[in-house]
Amino acid sequence: MATGSSGRSGTDDGDPARGAAPAGRTRRTTAPRSRAPAARAAAGTRGTRSRARPKAKVAPTAHAHTAPDEPFRLVDIEPGRPDGLKKKAIAEELARHRGRIAALQARLYAEQRRSLLIVLQAMDTGGKDGTIKHVFQGVNPQGCQVWSFKQPSVEELAHDFLWRYHAKVPTKGMITIFNRSHYEDVLVVRVRQLVPEEVWAARYDAINQFELALTQAGVTVLKFFLHISKDEQKRRLERRLDNPDKNWKFSRADLAERKRWDDYQVAYQDAIMRCSTPHAPWYVVPSNSRRYRNLVVARAIAGALEAMQPQFPPAESSLGRVHVDD
Ligand code: ATP
Ligand code: MG
Repeated sequence: MATGSSGRSGTDDGDPARGAAPAGRTRRTTAPRSRAPAARAAAGTRGTRSRARPKAKVAPTAHAHTAPDEPFRLVDIEPGRPDGLKKKAIAEELARHRGRIAALQARLYAEQRRSLLIVLQAMDTGGKDGTIKHVFQGVNPQGCQVWSFKQPSVEELAHDFLWRYHAKVPTKGMITIFNRSHYEDVLVVRVRQLVPEEVWAARYDAINQFELALTQAGVTVLKFFLHISKDEQKRRLERRLDNPDKNWKFSRADLAERKRWDDYQVAYQDAIMRCSTPHAPWYVVPSNSRRYRNLVVARAIAGALEAMQPQFPPAESSLGRVHVDD
């Protein structure tokens, strides 16, 4: 899998109640009525529950997509994993989705007609790296790229804000993962007031148009917000301090951002609300539990790939008559 970074530092299961679904609506107790295509895909079409599999007793955490600007409150979404899910069941289902993703990626790559863009956003320690590591195991590295976006370089800042992201969108046949993304330009940029309000406020529409244009060009866009609680972030930061093998991951800068936790939550909420579209849904993923997070993301990606129905290109004619010389 190719990876790179941009910026100054260079560097099927069919129950939507059992995971994240596109955001846009705050109802937590009812199953969504109408879901966007990708949401239906994420919910999956193949039933995987068998009598032997424990049935999760789960309060819905899903949010049906309806339209941008429909009220949505992040605070209504439980970042913890639902009760009643057994480790073994999660591991089995994750393994199954990984297999689906790998098989469908092979087709997408061979087909060379469409592509998939996965946007990962989270607060610091939210698990973007871990999600990439665990969900994409088994994927052919040749057909997959990861781009990490840091603070923009001078050259990047001299362009329109979408320039550096547009340059990295997937080409036909590829799966591309954005580890941070164009959403930083309405998140950190807003919270830290790096540009005047009228500038960042105009970006939601620009983002929606950008994502629409990508979709029209054959790019399926899936956006995941890995939702952790403030307490969970504290635990994870402390682990980075306590565990010598994790010290390298600790950054004092994360403490500064943590002080602005509430501002970030508001900025995320607005970004999710204003940029949840049928063509590019947001999934709010309960992410305090790493295992459950991986499962939810893998399920959504497998479902979306399945909905794309990528096909191997047709074989040359009359292959039965072809003889390979000794
Ligand atoms: P990790 O800490 O797991 O390595 P990370 O994504 O947090 O991953 P860092 O190098 O720690 O990477 O931080 C990158 C920083 O760049 C983040 O604080 C992010 O908010 C910031 N950043 C990304 N895009 C922009 C942008 N467009 N404008 C300003 N800052 C940005
Ligand atoms: Mg960081």
